[in-house]
Amino acid sequence: MICALVASHAGCSQGQSPGESPSRSKPAANQVAVKQPASVTPRNGSRENPLSATRAMSYLEQICKLGQRPSGSTGMIRQQSMLQKFFEKHGAKVSRQEFFVDHPLTGRRTPCANLVIEWNPEAKERVLLCAHYDTRPLPDRDPDPRARREGVFIGANDGASGVAVLMELAHQLEQANLNIGVDMVLFDAEELVFEDYRGQRGDYFEGSTYFARQYRENPPQHRYKWGVLMDMVGDKKLELMQEKFSMTWPDTRPLVLDIWNTAARLGVKEFVPRTKRGRDQGFIRDDHVPLRNIARIPTCDIIDADYPDAPFGAAGSYWHTEQDLPKHCSGESLAKVGWVVLEWLKSVEPGSK
Ligand SMILES: [Zn+2]
Repeated sequence: MICALVASHAGCSQGQSPGESPSRSKPAANQVAVKQPASVTPRNGSRENPLSATRAMSYLEQICKLGQRPSGSTGMIRQQSMLQKFFEKHGAKVSRQEFFVDHPLTGRRTPCANLVIEWNPEAKERVLLCAHYDTRPLPDRDPDPRARREGVFIGANDGASGVAVLMELAHQLEQANLNIGVDMVLFDAEELVFEDYRGQRGDYFEGSTYFARQYRENPPQHRYKWGVLMDMVGDKKLELMQEKFSMTWPDTRPLVLDIWNTAARLGVKEFVPRTKRGRDQGFIRDDHVPLRNIARIPTCDIIDADYPDAPFGAAGSYWHTEQDLPKHCSGESLAKVGWVVLEWLKSVEPGSK
């Protein structure tokens, strides 16, 4: 993802900008995080989160154990076969949407694949749940110059977290009696991008752009009513504000409001029902932009672009550093996001919006 600064080209500003009032108190480095209970009892006390925080976290760890997973790498190939087996075992139909990207440094043709996971292949009307599953090739915001050039980027939050939520949701979708079909898509080549003092090489969102073009140019038998993207949803100090592009688009705004209302109903306070303060803040370019602008699928982005669990690195957080590790993520965060999405799915009816 890229924070799109509307008024300037200053790059992505993570964390607090000067003059911006803090929306929550940022903890000191040595402050111990208060652990949230594994399941949240909503205000009415009647419902509990059916998703398992422990299992969701074990999925995140399992993915990270594969090592770095940039597009075309052996880590990515291992991840693809692991995920294909996993989702097939849970009853989904899994296929690969293959495409090629020219490697930004070598020019070599790099094989990429979006993983498409269908839960009800007969459904004509569906919802698209998505995440990217490639990791950035280098931790290029690491404070250590050596790491920026040749370090290892594990992408526990930025890469594995969205996938882990979808894996945990698989247990629910197997038995959920939904009124609408559900497809999951894991996007490859979200960030086969290199950035250093010479600038940016490579393009963002190659996988989602390919998927969106295919949908528009070779329309399938089914139609996606809504899309929900999850990216960087694993931080221990999760705070999910409404992303501004999706709040600005008239076709997508009702979707954002519905999801955040669902969270309020469940008492999941990590979903903060407002956008980021500051005129230029909170616009995030991510895989939801091609889905909405090219494929015309109204898609929102559930994303926490500020993750302060470890104040570290050029961005003031572990984002795009070697510290994007499971220890800064939490199964509770993953399970809460999955729960909100599941409850929202139950409310979606086919037909008119
Ligand atoms: Zn990233």
